[in-house]
Amino acid sequence: MTALPTGSTIGILGGGQLGRMLAIAAAQLGYRTHILAPDAESVAAQTASSFTRADYHSRIVLDDMAASCAVVTYEFENIALDPVEYLAAKVPVHPAPRALGVAQDRANEKQFVNDLGGRTAPWRKVTTRAELDEALAAIGAPAILKTLRLGYDGKGQVRLASPDEADAAWEAIGGRPAILEGHVAFDHEFSILLVRGADGGMTSYPPPKNEHVSGILARSTLPAPAAVAAQWTEAAALAGRIADSLDYVGVLACEFFVGADGPVFNEMAPRVHNSGHWTIEGAVTSQFENHIRAICGLPLGGTALTAPRVEMENLIGEAANRWVDVLAEPGAHLHLYGKRAVRPGRKMGHVTRLQPIIS
Ligand code: AMP
Repeated sequence: MTALPTGSTIGILGGGQLGRMLAIAAAQLGYRTHILAPDAESVAAQTASSFTRADYHSRIVLDDMAASCAVVTYEFENIALDPVEYLAAKVPVHPAPRALGVAQDRANEKQFVNDLGGRTAPWRKVTTRAELDEALAAIGAPAILKTLRLGYDGKGQVRLASPDEADAAWEAIGGRPAILEGHVAFDHEFSILLVRGADGGMTSYPPPKNEHVSGILARSTLPAPAAVAAQWTEAAALAGRIADSLDYVGVLACEFFVGADGPVFNEMAPRVHNSGHWTIEGAVTSQFENHIRAICGLPLGGTALTAPRVEMENLIGEAANRWVDVLAEPGAHLHLYGKRAVRPGRKMGHVTRLQPIIS
C-alpha cells in the first residue's frame, strides 16, 4: 500500500470520543475526516472536517462516503456488519469487516482465540434455559453469563454465585443467546494494544494495568506490576497471531487477566481502545496516530513510554466536574470529550498524569 496523500479524506463510522480523537490525530497529519453517525449530537463531528447524520444502512449515504473517502475505518464494534461489508466492496475499509464479525459474537471470539492456542476462561454457548443448566453443570459457579452480542462496559452480563441463581440470571439478560464463563480469580487485568500495518509489520505498546469499577475502565497505569510484565510476551504473541490471521490493519486491543498459568484472554476490540488513551502523552506515538498511520499506509510510530510513570484516569459522570482542579495539577493532561449532558456511567473525559523525568 502506498502512502495516502495528505489532504485525502478518511471516513469514520461512529461519532463518539474515539472518533473525535482519531479525527484530531488525522488532522495533525494533514488528512480530512468525514464522520457518519446517526446521533443528533456527535462529539466526533466537533473535531472532524465533515459530518453526515444518517442511519448506517442508507445506501445513498454509503455510496457518497465511498466516493468521497480514500479509506474508511470505524470507532465502535457494535456497528452492523452489512454496511461495513457494503462499503468494503467499494473502498478500502480497515480493519477488514471479518475482524468485526469475530469480535461481535463472544462465542466466535473465544473459539477463534482458542483455535489460535490462546487461553480463555472455560466457556459454553447458551441459547436456551436448559443449556444454561448444562453449562453450569460443566463449568460450575461462580460464573458470569454474558450476552453473545452488544455487550460493552460490563453491560449485558450477570454474575452467578451459585447454580440457584440460574433463573434470575437468565431473566436478567432477557433470555438472549449468551455464553457462560467460569469466574477467573485474578490479581490484575491488563491489555495489549497492537498496531499492524498493511505490509504486515507490527508493533505493540507496553501493557497498562487496568482497573475497572462497575465493569467500566476507571484507571490504566504504567509500568504495570511485575506479574503483568511477566505475561506480556505471551499475551503480545497471541495478539500478534490474532492480527496476522485476520490480516488486520490498524490498532487492535486485547484484554487479559493475569492467570495462574499465564495470560487469560477476555475479549478483543477491533479499534482504538480506552485503555490506550494514555498513549496520547505517555507514548512516543499515540494509538490514534498509529491507527491513522496504519490505515493510510504510513510507517508506524514508536510505542515507548515518554515518562517513568504514566496514569490515565477516566472522568466518568460527575467526576468531570472537577476539570478546573485537574488543570491546576502539574503534569496532568486533561481531555474533555465535549459531551453536554453529564450522566452516571458516561465517559465525559480523561486525564493522563505523567511523572516528570528527573535527570
Ligand atoms: P467484559 O465486558 O467481558 O470486558 O467484562 C467486564 C469486566 O468484568 C472485566 O473487565 C472484568 O473485570 C470482569 N470480568 C469479565 N469476565 C470475567 C471472568 N470470566 N472472570 C472474572 N471477572 C470477569
